[in-house]
Amino acid sequence: MSLGEFDIIAKYFARRQARSDVVLGIGDDAAVLNVRADRKLVLAMDTIAEGVHFLEQAAPEDIGYRALAVNLSDLAAMGAEPSWMSLSLSLPHADERWLDGFAKGLFELAEAYDVVLIGGDTVRGPLTVTVQVGGWVEHDRYLTRSGARAGDDIFISGVPGEAAAGLALLRAGAKQADAAVHLIQRFLRPTPRVQVGRGLRTVATAAMDVSDGLLADLGKLCEASGCGARLELEALPASPPMRTLFRGEECLQHALTGGDDYELLFTVAPTNVAALRDRAFAPIPLTRIGSMTSEPGVHCFLGGKEYVPARTGYDHFAQTDHR
Ligand code: ADP
Ligand code: MG
Repeated sequence: MSLGEFDIIAKYFARRQARSDVVLGIGDDAAVLNVRADRKLVLAMDTIAEGVHFLEQAAPEDIGYRALAVNLSDLAAMGAEPSWMSLSLSLPHADERWLDGFAKGLFELAEAYDVVLIGGDTVRGPLTVTVQVGGWVEHDRYLTRSGARAGDDIFISGVPGEAAAGLALLRAGAKQADAAVHLIQRFLRPTPRVQVGRGLRTVATAAMDVSDGLLADLGKLCEASGCGARLELEALPASPPMRTLFRGEECLQHALTGGDDYELLFTVAPTNVAALRDRAFAPIPLTRIGSMTSEPGVHCFLGGKEYVPARTGYDHFAQTDHR
């Protein structure tokens, strides 16, 4: 790299950022954090790779944003408050324009959530970005995938499927219409549902974020909770922009199997639904889309009849890659 490893760190990543719980940040052999006894530490890590999680022509700003957004989404699903991140960067070369854009996108989101970069690693290699985030929850108030019970109502935040629709439009090179701009933005800049996750801590029985598609991820939640689910397809939140650009059947496929939405999927006991409604999550809609069942498996219903979708979701090692 023309710009050395240490120049890259000093110029783009060692920013002056303040958090009172960061005792020692970038520059030493490791970071030192102050962790309070009345809280649980929550950690998550996600890697994004060129050609898999972002397109080869992706803007560096969007890559930096995404690398943190997908991690914040994992913390949101746990009901945690994000605080710190570390960054492992593998770069084919030290392109300063790229680094500048990447850092811009990353820190724009980090600052919005008061997340401080405390360390990382920088190496030469294929373009891959790994971020680890740390956060906390009060006492034992974290959410898991395994707490759902038969009879619980199933909810989704936001509008599932829009990100997948945006990705399809990007690939097709169609981005003129306002509707297309909205959908593409939903793919490029997913909003981690941190506030929703925080608000769910005391009302949800289980939660997870949707990264591989609603059906696939609901299947994981069911398995972890030892139950099944009945999904009412008529209840899925409608996306007017998606409706104007895709056929009904395609909209349904995007909503059920599209990845990259980073919405929260969660369950609430019927006795707690009123408490959920009392929380102010506006303007993010929370929609009831079905209920948990004691019989295993995810079953979809449309017009009172069972509906079997063509595809179920994304698996990195499956033959039917749709990305
Ligand atoms: P070591 O050789 O001890 O692993 P490094 O030379 O890799 O240390 O890194 C020096 C310092 O810079 C460390 O504090 C490390 O955490 C930090 N660092 C390295 N790469 C990054 C990065 N991409 N972002 C933030 N901090 C980084
Ligand atoms: Mg190192």
